[in-house]
Amino acid sequence: MAVKKIWQITHSCGHTAERDLDDRPTGRRAGFAEWLATQECTECWRAAKRAAKEGDDSTEKGIAWGVRCRHQVLSAS
Ligand SMILES: [Zn+2]
Repeated sequence: MAVKKIWQITHSCGHTAERDLDDRPTGRRAGFAEWLATQECTECWRAAKRAAKEGDDSTEKGIAWGVRCRHQVLSAS
């Protein structure tokens, strides 16, 4: 039986995306997929980042904080 590598993720923004979790340890894929589902999809994340560049200072700081948190989560897993 083939091990499931491609996971269908329904992101918090409502978009669905297929993610190849082949680089994740098999036992951690389900948890990582669950975590991804709490995040916005890559496109929305990029759009938010782009909007932050054009937005005012307070928005930019808020987004920067979010990116830092996200990066820490990714590094820890
Ligand atoms: Zn989205």
